Amino acid sequence: MAYSFHNKSAILFDMDGVLYDSMPNHSKAWSQAMERFGMHMTPHDVYLNEGATGHDTVVRISLRDRGYEASEQEIDDIYGYKAELFRSMPEARVMPGSQDVFRKASAAGLKILIVTGSGQKNLIERVQKDFEGFITRDRMVTAFEVKRGKPYPDPYLKGLEIAGVPASEAVVVENAPLGIRAAVAAGIDTIAVNTGPLEDEILLAEKPVLLLHSMQELADNLENLFA
Ligand code: CA
Repeated sequence: MAYSFHNKSAILFDMDGVLYDSMPNHSKAWSQAMERFGMHMTPHDVYLNEGATGHDTVVRISLRDRGYEASEQEIDDIYGYKAELFRSMPEARVMPGSQDVFRKASAAGLKILIVTGSGQKNLIERVQKDFEGFITRDRMVTAFEVKRGKPYPDPYLKGLEIAGVPASEAVVVENAPLGIRAAVAAGIDTIAVNTGPLEDEILLAEKPVLLLHSMQELADNLENLFA
């Protein structure tokens, strides 16, 4: 790998699809919730919209499938139902290799933050246990900290503010096209980790500096990349 991150002092991680293998559950929940309201979301649609807020996702799919914007009430109902379905599903496993990445990032002296569009309170709680010693709630940007979600740069700009570092000293780890777009819009070098079914080209179109295929691959290369 030609790229080097030797000047970086902070590493910002997305959560779903990066730290947890939770996207298959999100995909099933979105698909079922949308069917009930007369819309249709394939797994490919879910992964393409990943990282956006639930609100923005419902608006986009409603326009596409029904030709009109969903009302605020309907958005609440659909997203509420989707969240209920998601909570009823078996717990997603920690993404293999991600805890190894955290250990190595910490040993390399990097500040670790999580920047997620998620508002799933159980997962926001759980991540602090699964990655104990490396992450606390005050080092997390969630749906509760920003008004405008990804693909706006706001969540990552908030992350930089919390880390107290300029964009040039940070690196982002993202799995979703809209997430990469948000990080790049914030001026941050981004490592794409393609853990889902999308073609590499879709992620590369958002201009990450590097594309890997698993968190284990990042763990195996982290010391070299940041040396
Ligand atoms: Ca993600």
